[in-house]
Amino acid sequence: MANNKLHDDALAYHSQGRPGKIEVVPTKPHSSQRDLSLAYSPGVAEPCLEIEKDPQTAYDYTSKGNLVAVISNGTAVLGLGDIGAMAGKPVMEGKGLLFKIFAGIDVFDIEVNEKDPEKFIEVVKAISPTFGGINLEDIKAPECFEIEERLKNELDIPIMHDDQHGTAIISACGLLNALELNGKKIEDIRIVVNGAGAAANSCTQLYIALGAKPENIVMLDSKGVINTSRTDLNDRKKPFATTRNIFTLEEAIKDADMFLGLSVADVLTPEMLQSMNSDPIVFALANPNPEISYELAMASREDIIFATGRSDYPNQINNVLGFPYIFRGALDVQATCINEEMKVATVYALAELTKKAVPDVVNAAYSIKKLSFGRDYIIPKPLDPRLLTTVAPAVAKAAMESGIARKPITDWEQYDHKLRD
Ligand code: NAP
Ligand code: MG
Repeated sequence: MANNKLHDDALAYHSQGRPGKIEVVPTKPHSSQRDLSLAYSPGVAEPCLEIEKDPQTAYDYTSKGNLVAVISNGTAVLGLGDIGAMAGKPVMEGKGLLFKIFAGIDVFDIEVNEKDPEKFIEVVKAISPTFGGINLEDIKAPECFEIEERLKNELDIPIMHDDQHGTAIISACGLLNALELNGKKIEDIRIVVNGAGAAANSCTQLYIALGAKPENIVMLDSKGVINTSRTDLNDRKKPFATTRNIFTLEEAIKDADMFLGLSVADVLTPEMLQSMNSDPIVFALANPNPEISYELAMASREDIIFATGRSDYPNQINNVLGFPYIFRGALDVQATCINEEMKVATVYALAELTKKAVPDVVNAAYSIKKLSFGRDYIIPKPLDPRLLTTVAPAVAKAAMESGIARKPITDWEQYDHKLRD
């Protein structure tokens, strides 16, 4: 019944009034003959010629610097799978809405009917002059890895496949804070990663960059533990193969300190959780239904720190905590890419923000009396207005310090005011 209601509500939401979720709005006067002669011919030729002389001036005379493409080929849409480019359009429009409301960034959603990675890369490269940044979205693994790597190498604007790196960044924030709560060190913990796709690969790499030891990590895919005896592993899985002689999740999770689920619903049992080390960190992120339900997990042991991808339980690992602000900071310094330094800066900015006193407006938005750092609050909440003024400057600074900012910020106070406007 509930699903029928959601079905009806969602279709009404998307179709009522102007169909879809976003529109294009002019930013310049357009009511007089003079306005039109500046907006279009003949006046428009002047900025064209300036940009021809100096391409960098496109940031002064066009919307490029605040315009991000959300580009998908529809091959891995949400948890729905390969539903095709056009069927993914509501998701890409939705991402446009989130970019706009949280960070003031305009988005063109671009659905490309092309599965061949080489051809898809060519399409994205060909339309890239339009944009200040590119958010690749819902492209299936393993193709997504090559597509992102190639585009990053071949273009000089910020590019990020959010399904990989957004998840990694937000979950890493949760992990660092959970470790602070349970007094363990990332260098020491044993991690089980269930799933070996787009998100799992990037999460594992980021955890290693933050100090996790590769020899303490066991990854599993749909066939079980990825170990060195397997002969069916692609190049993206091979680096994570363990030499341990284990095959099942049950064996892998025993005595582990963290479980990271980026796989499918209901593969974890209470017994498996009970076999983990003390104060286990369990991020069950399969969407919409996690690897184990919140209720079962909480009932299985008292010392657990638990997160899911769902908004109806504490500790939602939600990518919206990252992408609007990462692109905001990257665009504002005209970064040539989104590099590891910027991702790590986001992780630390989010982790620190969680530990600060929570303003009343955030408590009110979630009808919670008093949110405070603890097992049920290891990640900031999406409606926290401090995210913009905390994460965007951290990303911009990291871009500048790592030497990839084309337009460094000099007055941080002024930048803070600009973000608040
Ligand atoms: P993906 O690229 O399709 O990867 C899915 C992985 O799960 C594959 O490696 C697959 O194995 C593995 N798998 C399937 N059944 C399994 C099983 N029974 N046991 C262990 N592994 C199994 O998908 P993705 O983009 O990484 O996303 C994975 C899941 O995480 C989805 O449910 C997605 O919604 C969720 N997710 C949540 C968040 C969030 O909460 N913020 C963010 C990203 C993703 P094979 O390689 O053998 O096919
Ligand atoms: Mg996605």
